[in-house]
Amino acid sequence: MKLCIKRLRVFFFIIVLLIAGFSLWIQDKYVVPILMYHEIEDISRHEANYVTPKNFERQMAFLEKNHYQVISLDALVDSIKKGKVLSKKSVVITFDDGKENNYTNALAVLKKYNFPATIFVPSGLIGKEKQMSLPQLQEMISSKIDIGSHTQTHSYLPGLSVEKQIKEIFDSKKDIEEFLGISVKYFAYPIGGFSDEIKKLVRQAGYEAACATNRGRDRFNKDVFELKRIRPNNNDSDLVLWLKTSGYYNLFRKAKNPY
Ligand SMILES: [Zn+2]
Repeated sequence: MKLCIKRLRVFFFIIVLLIAGFSLWIQDKYVVPILMYHEIEDISRHEANYVTPKNFERQMAFLEKNHYQVISLDALVDSIKKGKVLSKKSVVITFDDGKENNYTNALAVLKKYNFPATIFVPSGLIGKEKQMSLPQLQEMISSKIDIGSHTQTHSYLPGLSVEKQIKEIFDSKKDIEEFLGISVKYFAYPIGGFSDEIKKLVRQAGYEAACATNRGRDRFNKDVFELKRIRPNNNDSDLVLWLKTSGYYNLFRKAKNPY
């Protein structure tokens, strides 16, 4: 009997040690999830870039219902740079490509929940077919939406010459700042492609941070010039959304080459 109690004690001690060890290990693995949307539009077939307006509303309602704190990209970058600890229910919302359906189908929902967001716009496509116009972008800005750059022509940067990379990165910032009278602080790599040299150019152009997609080797978003984002899919269930917004989703993702 005595031996049995002793064994039980050892067993519980090991369990407590394992739990304590796991808690310590997992502590610095938390990453504030940055959601990446593209088009908010009805579509009959499955396409990775599309979320229907109905499902977008459902996904935003999920965040509200579960008491997530939707924070701006600004607040997240500031916290990473200053080493500030954010609530483990923080989420950032971003959109790429500057599609008009962000204005027609997403803005009202974001306003309803009072959620901030950042939209990355290719400056040379503003006002073109199915793209947001300048007045629409102005309205976005007055509704707590930040505008970032997504190059001028939405080109895959690693495939361009250095001269062209410089033009896409530097001039898109100048274009948007001139068109909208704002300061453009953030950049998103088209198709997520970047390299160390491209990152350097983005920094030199005066951006404060840059978003990738799922590419890059920094799983824990320590480097603000290669922030990994998470794509919510149209048919994601609440369970999948919960996993994607848990802050530990990056742990289960394979490290991917940046280009
Ligand atoms: Zn894009």
